[in-house]
Amino acid sequence: MTPKYTLRCIQGGEDAPEHYTTSCPCGHASLLRAEYSKKQLTVRNLPGIFRFCDWLPIHRTLPIVSGPVCFRSIALSRELGIPNLYIGFNGYWPERGGTITTCSFKELEALPTVIRMQEQRPATLVIASAGNTGRAFLQVSALTGIPVVVVVPEKAIERLWTTAPADKAVVIAVTGDYTDAIRFSREICTLPQFLEEGGAKNVARRDGMGTVMLDAAVTIGRMPDYYFQAIGSGTGGIAAWEAALRLVGDGRFGSRLPELHLSQNLPFVPMVAAWNERRRNLVPDTDMPDAQAAISQVYSDVLTNREPPYAITGGVFDALTATSGRMYAISNDEARAAEKLFMDLEGIDLDPAATVCVASLLQACEAGTIDKQKTVFLNITGGGYARVQKDHALIPVRPSFTVPAGALIDVIKQEFLETVKSCV
Ligand SMILES: [Zn+2]
Repeated sequence: MTPKYTLRCIQGGEDAPEHYTTSCPCGHASLLRAEYSKKQLTVRNLPGIFRFCDWLPIHRTLPIVSGPVCFRSIALSRELGIPNLYIGFNGYWPERGGTITTCSFKELEALPTVIRMQEQRPATLVIASAGNTGRAFLQVSALTGIPVVVVVPEKAIERLWTTAPADKAVVIAVTGDYTDAIRFSREICTLPQFLEEGGAKNVARRDGMGTVMLDAAVTIGRMPDYYFQAIGSGTGGIAAWEAALRLVGDGRFGSRLPELHLSQNLPFVPMVAAWNERRRNLVPDTDMPDAQAAISQVYSDVLTNREPPYAITGGVFDALTATSGRMYAISNDEARAAEKLFMDLEGIDLDPAATVCVASLLQACEAGTIDKQKTVFLNITGGGYARVQKDHALIPVRPSFTVPAGALIDVIKQEFLETVKSCV
């Protein structure tokens, strides 16, 4: 029987065995990509993202409704003079079909990731997060009973809540930034039975996120000409490009890849700096001088990954190159102005990262970098925080441990293992 999918190294072209594999076994600095045996997409009569399970690296589905929604804008479309403006809303907004109670598209990544882990390499997943990804995995853990360990910067703790009790989750706060949280999560994964979730290297995460592009294409009837998204790691941009490649292969949604229009929040804009010089490699001194000070100043701190998958084969640089993409640097004032405009016109509150995305569209209109007669898709990666509280009680999730930046696992090892054991 033909397997549902195989993993292929983008750089070397060789197949990689699937056991929740996240890097090339031959050692190429390359992402792996899932290649699905079905070349044409059949939209299934299933809830949420599972409608697109043909192109997810999983074999079973869950009765969980979280999924992307896409609709044609009226008010913002009129304001900007873009007749074919479509909004992909990934958050909570039941009036528009938005069903993600944790209000962020990260739930689209978390669902296939936990299923893939259980199918391919049962272990305890460890997730490093700036807040939104952690919340998404906590929610999926709460809904499925699958244990997870979430590592976040201390100041992101307030963003961790669920709408069901997350009894099987252990949270660790790091007194540092997102990158410090990533580093401590790697410490945990030196212990046996703990599995690094993989971030951008995890095909389940990318293809989960790619459902936003699939949903856009099936709703619009074709791929958009322009795809707008704010990026921290850029995984969403890579995922959109890969989903578009599959849609080109499908043959029914157009043959031209959507241009990626990606944005970051000033003063922390490393990928904008590198891309504007068409450089494949990030140079920390040039692209992110005074990184910590810059990170502390941005409106949307989920957009502040210091080690994004930019240079790696199949990463952000390649995605921008393949799609003739563009990058935008957005100030906090521009983001706040866009937030107000969107709220007034479309009537829902946004995640700060989504305000950066809206602001990039305003900048594009102003600068004339897009043809307004073409089809524009705006990936609103999160929103509905005010709306969800009308329907759901939000349950805060507290950290079991707090560790300093740069700590080694030994500082909490014994107690941590006992805590995890009591959850499993
Ligand atoms: Zn390889």
